[in-house]
Amino acid sequence: MRTLVTDLAEIAERVQAQRDEFDVMRYRLQLDDGLDDAALDTFVEALVAPIVAAIDCTRCGNCCRALVVYLEERDVARLAEGLQTPFERVLEDYVDVEAAHTVGEWGAFKHKPCAFLRGTRCGVYAHRPQTCRDYPAFTPEFRWMLDDLLDGAPICPIIYNVLNALLDHVDRLTASS
Ligand code: SF4
Ligand code: SF4
Repeated sequence: MRTLVTDLAEIAERVQAQRDEFDVMRYRLQLDDGLDDAALDTFVEALVAPIVAAIDCTRCGNCCRALVVYLEERDVARLAEGLQTPFERVLEDYVDVEAAHTVGEWGAFKHKPCAFLRGTRCGVYAHRPQTCRDYPAFTPEFRWMLDDLLDGAPICPIIYNVLNALLDHVDRLTASS
């Protein structure tokens, strides 16, 4: 396994330097007709698990600083319950419904960095939105998520390290090699 990198500045530099290498990997994985989606997903999940286990998100929080968090109504209801605050008040204080509607979403947090971020930790962890629970997702259909994952690599150490580790396996995974 390649050495894990967690320094955000170093990761941003590495992604820039490895852009061509990652693009070639993406083309090869996406264009290989012999590659089975389910088998690739299973392989990637096995690659992801130890990296997720080794990287401490509570010492990072970069996704909470850098990304827009999209919401569903039930996310606001769960936050309202956790904060012991009326639903309408949470909506008014933290959610931008109009901007989210323009991109086909129900809602999004108004603030970036997230208003609930405390240092590098989530201040509403037990009540956080589903989007936060799922991030970063690599499957299903990892191969078709690669474009978004490559966009996320500069900001998320988990994504970067998974893609970096995958570079060592592309020859074996692709039938055309
Ligand atoms: S709710 Fe918590 S996990 Fe989600 S973006 Fe805000 S601080 Fe991060
Ligand atoms: S998911 Fe990625 S960006 Fe977010 S806290 Fe964890 S390592 Fe950092």
